[in-house]
Amino acid sequence: MAEEKISLETISEVDIEKIPVISDYGIDLSLEEKIEIYNKLLEAHKLAKTNVKVGNVTNRGFATYVCTNKNKWSLGTNFNNTRNDISSVCGERSAILSAYNYALVSYMKNPQSGFDFKIKYMCMSSNIDINDYYDFIVPCEDCLSWLNTNRCFDEDTMIFSFVRKEDRILKISATKLVDLLPYRIVKTSSIYSENKDIKTTPLAQKSLLKFKIDKNIIKNILFKTYEAYKNNNLVKISGQNIIASVFFGDEIMTFKKLDWTKRWFVEPLEHACAEAMQKTDGNLEIKAVCYFGDEYNNSEIKDGVVSIKTLGRIRQKHASGDTLLILNLENEILVTTIGEYLPKKFVQGYKI
Ligand SMILES: [Zn+2]
Repeated sequence: MAEEKISLETISEVDIEKIPVISDYGIDLSLEEKIEIYNKLLEAHKLAKTNVKVGNVTNRGFATYVCTNKNKWSLGTNFNNTRNDISSVCGERSAILSAYNYALVSYMKNPQSGFDFKIKYMCMSSNIDINDYYDFIVPCEDCLSWLNTNRCFDEDTMIFSFVRKEDRILKISATKLVDLLPYRIVKTSSIYSENKDIKTTPLAQKSLLKFKIDKNIIKNILFKTYEAYKNNNLVKISGQNIIASVFFGDEIMTFKKLDWTKRWFVEPLEHACAEAMQKTDGNLEIKAVCYFGDEYNNSEIKDGVVSIKTLGRIRQKHASGDTLLILNLENEILVTTIGEYLPKKFVQGYKI
């Protein structure tokens, strides 16, 4: 592998003050903060490269520097000891765990200080040569599932990464974590009524036309999903009853959440999609997805009904951003799309 030429990016030769920061929020970083973030991104990039050099299974290196509300920085890289997902930890989760352990040990040694742990910044880099950077980096859907909680993150948690885009000028992008997460304001409900109004977003209206789906079909999918909810006695351990359905061709495939333990269960959407895939011999096009279930939600813990992780999985192939997502809310039925629910601002581009 040719050595990367990063001379242009070395701290002594780059006028960090002139590096543009691109953001939707008019973020105002002091020069000191900007230099710190630049240096953390560069250091994370070097770690990601080193991780690939020593040979990780995926041949892709990611590394993240996180900064807590106590201004403690921690670095972590992706740990891939096999190709299966249960044995992999992404760079951002690795860094967060490192920060969490540090905070906990500090608290253990000095309990008077109190325990208050929030992630303020996440500086994400990859092993891609800095001269070849193009798009900005954001967490994958597995990580977003993990980050979709109020416990360690809040509305202000920012994600930084290098980006170049068409003009090839090195910039720092700043994105809010909440903008990559599903509608936090949407709470699903387990109260069914066939008289609820159907609210359709403008993008969902386009998908209704594309897939030739009318409101009767939407109501029918929701009703089938609700019926399975009523008859699900396989969730006695977690007590959280969730059903998912997929609509493909002119069929509805419904599956129940099955508990193994409180935290190990069969995710219903993933299973419904797998059944549909087998049935169609792999030629599956999912037109709509529907969830119905019990929302566990308070200010501290959020165990949502909809699986970000599974939406991320199915969007890779048999569904897309256009696929409809039907959700039963307290006073209405919301018809949106996977792309609206789970904004995709970066394509991982894994080739393994
Ligand atoms: Zn990830």
